[in-house]
This record gives sequence, structure tokens and C-alpha cells, in this order.
Amino acid sequence: MGKGVYEKGVFSLYVSFDYDATKYLEEWKNGFNLASRSLFEATSGKMKFGTIMAANRGRSFTPKVDPKKEADVVIYGPKYTGSRLSCLASSCYNVSPTWPYQNPCLGWAYRYFTLLHEDRWLVWYILHEFSHYALGLYDEYKNQLGYPGGTCCNDNDSSKCIMEVCDSIVTQYCDQEHTQDNQQEFMNHKSCWATIQEKYSDLAGPSALSDYNITWVMG
Ligand SMILES: [Zn+2]
Ligand SMILES: [Zn+2]
Repeated sequence: MGKGVYEKGVFSLYVSFDYDATKYLEEWKNGFNLASRSLFEATSGKMKFGTIMAANRGRSFTPKVDPKKEADVVIYGPKYTGSRLSCLASSCYNVSPTWPYQNPCLGWAYRYFTLLHEDRWLVWYILHEFSHYALGLYDEYKNQLGYPGGTCCNDNDSSKCIMEVCDSIVTQYCDQEHTQDNQQEFMNHKSCWATIQEKYSDLAGPSALSDYNITWVMG
């Protein structure tokens, strides 16, 4: 479907490798663990990745689940020349207007985000694309129509956000100093942190998460 689930701050995800990633699985495990740490830090310890169920070479998950239908994440190999994509309410709707409008896309069949082979090192991309898919956030480097040109990268360091692309070491979601002229503002009408709190109202309580570590399971 994402067949992935959210429960009490923990996102468990299904990851399908489109290539033979045998030699890189340990690096990918580390990458997802670091992305989980960034999510944990950006949400003051209230969100993390939980079980990452991975299937190599497009094989089915265990118990048997169709990766094309059920994966939350599809990872392409080094020969792939396309770019990263993330299913979001508007982009899903563009693909198939008959699908119900749903934001976030987590938990909906045939909806997923994609990553590239190098993203096992560029873990910021894991969190950025996940944030579209599971948190319902839009890009802040794009304008209202979805093209490059939205306001972002405010000079004030404290305003930088994971949904901008200016600085890959940013590990926070914008809050008060949210920049206005961009797709996130146009679609969600508020900052990224306010959007997350709206979609996951259980965040209001104290954090129950003690660590950011993931559980990596090969399907
Ligand atoms: Zn993006
Ligand atoms: Zn933001």
C-alpha cells in the first residue's frame, strides 16, 4: 500500500528493492536507522521508524504480500535514471482521478515513495520523501503550481526545513518561521510542524518513545 502502519509514534514500513541489493542491505539498514534518528530528533522524540520489512529483488514479503501493491517504499538500483517520487494526495490524484483523495497516503494500496541507490548514504532523502508520503507535507522549494521557485532557504537558520532542498543536513520541520510562498503553504495552509500535529493528534501527549532504533526484517 503502503501496507505500512502508524501506531503511537512508530511508522512500520514495507520496503521493496527493485534490484539485487544483497551487497548493500547492511548499508540500507543503517540508512533507515539514521533516517529514523532524524525523524526522532525533528519531532522531539515523538516519531520514529519501527519495523522495516524489506524484500530484495522485488520478491514478495513474508507472509506473502505483493510488493507492487503493498510496498511503502520502492528502491531503484544504480542503473535507474529516473528521479525520486513520492505519492501525495495531489500527485496520486493526477495519476488516477478515480482514487479517493487521501492525505497522507500511508496505508493506501499502490501508493509509495521511491528512493535511489545512493540514498542509503543520503539519508535526508529518505526522510524528505517519507514526509510527503506519510506526513502529508509538500515541497517548500516549489511554488504553488509545483514548479521550482517557491520561497525557501530563509537566511535565518532556524527556519530551514526538511521540506526544502537547500541544505541536506537540516533535521527539523518548520514551525513559526515557515516560509509562505510555496507548495506546502498552498496545499496545507500552515507550517510543516502544524500540519503533522493536525494529522497525528496523538503527538500532543508526552513522548512514549525511548529510542529511535529500527527493527530490520528481510521478507
Ligand atoms: Zn519533495
Ligand atoms: Zn516546512
